[in-house]
Amino acid sequence: MADRYFRNEMPDFVAETTGEETASERAKDSLTNLLSLPYRTVTERFQRAALNFKELVERETWGLSGKRVQDFTLYTGALGTAYLAFKAYLVTKNENDLKLCSDIVKACDSASRDSGRVTFICGKAGVCALGAVTAKHSGDERLLNYYLKQFKEIRLTRDLPNELLYGRVGYLWACAFLNKHIGEDTISITHTRSVVDEVIKAGRQLANKRRCPLMYEWHGKKYWGAAHGLAGVMHVLMDMELKPDEVEDVKGTLHYMMKNRFPSGNYPSSEESESDRLVHWCHGAPGVALTLVRAAEVFGDEEFMQAAVDAGEVVWKRGLLKRVGICHGISGNTYIFLSLYRLTGNVEYLYRAKAFACFLLDRAQNLISEGKMHGGDRPYSLFEGLGGMAYVFLDMINPSEGKFPAYEL
Ligand SMILES: [Zn+2]
Repeated sequence: MADRYFRNEMPDFVAETTGEETASERAKDSLTNLLSLPYRTVTERFQRAALNFKELVERETWGLSGKRVQDFTLYTGALGTAYLAFKAYLVTKNENDLKLCSDIVKACDSASRDSGRVTFICGKAGVCALGAVTAKHSGDERLLNYYLKQFKEIRLTRDLPNELLYGRVGYLWACAFLNKHIGEDTISITHTRSVVDEVIKAGRQLANKRRCPLMYEWHGKKYWGAAHGLAGVMHVLMDMELKPDEVEDVKGTLHYMMKNRFPSGNYPSSEESESDRLVHWCHGAPGVALTLVRAAEVFGDEEFMQAAVDAGEVVWKRGLLKRVGICHGISGNTYIFLSLYRLTGNVEYLYRAKAFACFLLDRAQNLISEGKMHGGDRPYSLFEGLGGMAYVFLDMINPSEGKFPAYEL
């Protein structure tokens, strides 16, 4: 088990120094020094590193490919670079980043023309939705209408799964993203309701006579995590308008998960799995923690907040993964602490987010080049590679606004 993550030897909390480094502080190792620096100073380093990595990612995934797109997805492909450029634009207001995002989305639009995939993270909905939002920021109404028209032409087939990466809630998330960034009712509630109906119906059917009110399957397995399972489905449902009986089913499903977690506090990756191994956003406590934070925000129940805090402890102990990315790496796990910080206002969570991000800043490149850390199967991508690291560094600049990309609205 231990070889999946680095033992977290960072202190549980370090108070920041107020002034310049003293000689004795300089004598400590570079990570300890970073942790004791004032937040403002560290922020400058995050921003510098983020923009350098963004340029590297852009060169590797766009420039060197001759601006041709093979993998258009946000998860491992060119749309992830566009999303990173858009984030950089929001932070720095550099118009070149908005233009870059727009150019990449255009190429993704061509590349995804014949794709039957419908979600934000792995499908066409992500291309059209990010295209529309970018066009809005550029003041290009013609292009905005074009992408919205394309979005509305996406058809959901009857045999679609319900999970986040390829299924119905991954499409619903794109609808919510448009309604947030373009304007309420850009995608009508009548339309999203018809999809929510399908998701609830499928969940109740499979849950039939089980102790859990809603259950889903992906490739024959009843997953619990954010990417393919219950945590992801519940997370998106909480961003929809639900009927009272549906709210009860969502709460009941979360209670079922909380009751059946491992003794360690971690969550199984699927129903009846006994292997307490993965502490990823995709499988395990981190993805569930974000869903519990959302439940605490939406329903206000103390028990969800406590469960989110408990899941956060697992991430602190076992979440310093030997991978860099958003999906199953340190970058993604950093967001659990940003999310808990937003929920509780407790500066200890801000420190923990800073600690994970500083670990990346200080060590990731060396650890990857020494082969002690996995650089990702797609080493520059948003969800598996350095793109995700650049993204989380940008979020560390305004930590109370930090949101897990393509997941927290
Ligand atoms: Zn993953």
